[in-house]
Amino acid sequence: MSITQNIQRLTAQLPQGVKLVAVSKFHPIERLQEAYDAGQRIFGENRAQELASKAPQLPSDIEWHFIGHLQKNKVRMIMPWASIIQSIDSTQLLQLVNKEAARINRHINVLLQLHVAKEQTKSGFTIDEIFEAAEDGAFRDLSNVTICGVMAMATFTDDMEQVASEFEVVRNTFLTLRDKYFSHNDAFKEISMGMSDDWRIAVEHGATLVRIGTNIFGQREY
Ligand SMILES: *Cc1c(COP(=O)(O)O)cnc(C)c1O
Repeated sequence: MSITQNIQRLTAQLPQGVKLVAVSKFHPIERLQEAYDAGQRIFGENRAQELASKAPQLPSDIEWHFIGHLQKNKVRMIMPWASIIQSIDSTQLLQLVNKEAARINRHINVLLQLHVAKEQTKSGFTIDEIFEAAEDGAFRDLSNVTICGVMAMATFTDDMEQVASEFEVVRNTFLTLRDKYFSHNDAFKEISMGMSDDWRIAVEHGATLVRIGTNIFGQREY
């Protein structure tokens, strides 16, 4: 199936209110352009350099989502391009993003990445850490950042019950954070979870953004 057909099929299957992030990492800009021509406007990249090199070559109404681990020395590189950083995984990174956004006089949206998977390699706040940070006031008084919700990845496994239970933890954490710490922030409404193999389960558990690469663009060549 072509990229265009893949996007049409996915878009038709997603319930209203769930947005598709086309994860285009490692794919050349011609393929992104094809997705754009099929109507896709939200793209996800996980490497700063790649985002900063692709974005200026493609239409300016694309919404770029940064979804990878962001090194502190790369924040400045993506700041002009990213409309949202989905992968805030520490309070230090959050502070730095706020500072860099202020420096170029812009406002940026972010999501807090939660670590719910079994793999140690995946990053994000553990559930304990996110509530500790919230109690400490780490999510208040950010002049140039709006926290719009949470993002997470499930364990890489065939055990779909495991995946479902992790997504449920994400949803419950989102709800508790919202009610306790973000009740005055109407923008706190996004749950980004679900990839090519598990997006249906993610949607069942409340995802508002799904991040899909392989099902749109095919296998990546690393
Ligand atoms: C690569 C990636 C995806 C997309 O994965 P697919 O299995 O190709 O759909 C989603 N989220 C993150 C954070 C990624 O790095």
